[in-house]
Amino acid sequence: MATKVQNTQLAFDGSAVTRSRFRFAPGEYDELRELAAEHRVECDFHYNDDPHAGARVLYLRPERERQPIFKLVYDDPWDEPGNGRYSDTICEWCNDNGYAEENDFGPFYCERGQHAVIQRNPSNGWRGYEVNDPEADDDEYTPCCVGCAQRFYKQHGHPREQMDEGQRVRCDFYDHSELRELGWTEGQAFFRNSRSADELEEYHDYCLALIGDGNIVLTDQGTTGIGMGGPDDVTVWFKPS
Ligand SMILES: [Zn+2]
Ligand SMILES: [Zn+2]
Repeated sequence: MATKVQNTQLAFDGSAVTRSRFRFAPGEYDELRELAAEHRVECDFHYNDDPHAGARVLYLRPERERQPIFKLVYDDPWDEPGNGRYSDTICEWCNDNGYAEENDFGPFYCERGQHAVIQRNPSNGWRGYEVNDPEADDDEYTPCCVGCAQRFYKQHGHPREQMDEGQRVRCDFYDHSELRELGWTEGQAFFRNSRSADELEEYHDYCLALIGDGNIVLTDQGTTGIGMGGPDDVTVWFKPS
């Protein structure tokens, strides 16, 4: 319990002034620190010393002030949309200046799942989670998360029109045991970095033949080591539609 201490000081004009102070007993400071810590929040997106940026550490007193921070909640792509696996604090300044989107591990908006998703794998920092939407053509770009894209491909395969038009192959790493469980069969492999038009044509013809036989197809690029460059080949998987 704090005790009030009063003492009297002389002013320059000779009058006496009474001053009050609070004195805290040992241990009480810790309690005060805890109280302050509870209201202490740090913006997770401040990353520079821009003099225009507000303070990185903010103290919240919700009853007395307009709350100067926001909670950003966003998803992991591999769970269903709306899982809200990640939650960050962002100050008004960073929010207004788009720092959440600029941050490597901040969210981007996936149109297909209509959810905010972390931009890259938080444990290896390497794999980007944003791809072009499976149904968007090469010359248009609609951000989609890898989770929604894979869920689409596992259900519908590559859109036939894109195959017909010989568009870029949207390959990805799939879980092979999951694909087998879902009824997919591993098909032919193609050399990926081939500049040879023949082989690309062969790939498209192979996929179109499978589609013609009543299958859907997707393209797996297998495992790739970090820093090893692109994989050598891609494998077509198919499943009766
Ligand atoms: Zn900030
Ligand atoms: Zn998504």
